[in-house]
Amino acid sequence: MISYRMAKRPLNMSGEEFRAIGHELVDRIAGFYDSLPERRITPGESPRIVRDLLGRNGIPAGGTPAGELLDEVSELLFDHSLHNGHPKFLGYITSSGAPIGALADLLAAAVNPNLGKWDLSPVATEIEAQTIRWIAEMIGYPVDGGGGMVSGGNMANFLGFMAARKARADWDIRTDGLYAEPRRLTAYASQETHTWIQKAADISGLGVDAVRWVETDHLQRMNLDALQGHIEEDRSNGCRPFIVVGTAGSVSTGAVDALPEIAAICEQNNLWFHVDGAYGAPAAALPEAPAALKALALADSLALDPHKWMYCPKEAACTLVKNAQTLPDAFSFSPVYYNLDSHDSSDDEPGINYFEHGMQNTRGFRALKVWLSLRHVGRNGQVQMIRDDIALAKQLFRLCDEHPELEACTQNLSITTFRYVPEHLATGTEQAEQALNELNRQLMIRLQTGGEAYVSNAVIDGKYVLRACIVNFRTSAEDIEALPGIIVRTGQLI
Ligand SMILES: *Cc1c(COP(=O)(O)O)cnc(C)c1O
Repeated sequence: MISYRMAKRPLNMSGEEFRAIGHELVDRIAGFYDSLPERRITPGESPRIVRDLLGRNGIPAGGTPAGELLDEVSELLFDHSLHNGHPKFLGYITSSGAPIGALADLLAAAVNPNLGKWDLSPVATEIEAQTIRWIAEMIGYPVDGGGGMVSGGNMANFLGFMAARKARADWDIRTDGLYAEPRRLTAYASQETHTWIQKAADISGLGVDAVRWVETDHLQRMNLDALQGHIEEDRSNGCRPFIVVGTAGSVSTGAVDALPEIAAICEQNNLWFHVDGAYGAPAAALPEAPAALKALALADSLALDPHKWMYCPKEAACTLVKNAQTLPDAFSFSPVYYNLDSHDSSDDEPGINYFEHGMQNTRGFRALKVWLSLRHVGRNGQVQMIRDDIALAKQLFRLCDEHPELEACTQNLSITTFRYVPEHLATGTEQAEQALNELNRQLMIRLQTGGEAYVSNAVIDGKYVLRACIVNFRTSAEDIEALPGIIVRTGQLI
């Protein structure tokens, strides 16, 4: 028998110890937040340098006091990370993480509910369900549908894809698989669609060739005539169209497909309408949002990433579905060891067992940071931050347009693309364009490792352009005003 006097287990911590260490950590984090504008965005260190920093020893045999570790490791992380919380970080679609989200993650981990099953997480599951309804309400999507939190946009889109696969196959695809039907299930998405769809087509067994890449117009939006043409052609060639993916904010340029028209084409052809709003869907909350974007309300399923334009610390994404039953239809199995009747049968408002609504079984409390940040700033605060980001992106477009050595290229939502064109370089000829592409590629690498301002890139009609995506509540008009100068000065050094 284990003696109680021996029972101080090494990972356990007294309340007193936790309090002292925790307060100190919070102080350090507060100092880190305050220091962000003065820090380099990235130390620009190579993998070798970072590995050497950690050392290459094996696992330590003995322990180290927790306070000492957190002192050491907070400095390690603050000094050797890329700071997407810096006001001039405008790369990819990686937002600053809201401080309330950091506190929420700590609280969620402390309570540690398992949101796979309702009775393992009663209040946490209800908070998740409310978060899903609030997000739907905020963007004008039906609130009486369903959905759930997942890790990221890839997974959120994947859930929509799988729900579509189940809903639109008229045989028992979950039991019989794809072999039961010779006509190939075929998906339609524009050439600007994020690469999640290749992974979804691959993992779902359809194969990547089941994706029909629909051509785009001069504004990087899906060409609707081409979509119609592909559907008809595939039908006559013995394929079985099942889903059209519209993008609400493309990853390269923020382009929004003509969602109302795509919805109509889906309706006419009995196809599932999925919207990838991983980045752009929150902008539908703005009263002034264009009708093309607001029509995401018509989607059968929708992916949205709170860890992008709702500024939640990673990871937080969600899938919304118009018909709540379509997720359990696609994912539920009911093993005996879950005793699923324990609460549900006697209650006229049964609880949700989220493991039936997606791929995960054990699920963490991702919803808390989303729910708390929505309560912290309210709908108005969310809308204002998104509106400010869009205004900053437009300001950047204007500044680039006015600058003699910058060419403004595209502006959608909060993404602006542009390129550096030094005065001595002509444009237009193939050779000049190649030189400009190479120059801008080198410029982006210098900016990304320089640590002063961070942008990423896009390729538009063969043009290599720099791309600023503003999903950052710390970015100010002064930060944007400083950007053209930093870019041109860096470009002149090449
Ligand atoms: C970011 C993004 C994704 C992928 O989301 P992750 O959270 O990175 O998995 C998918 N689609 C679009 C349009 C995106 O912007």
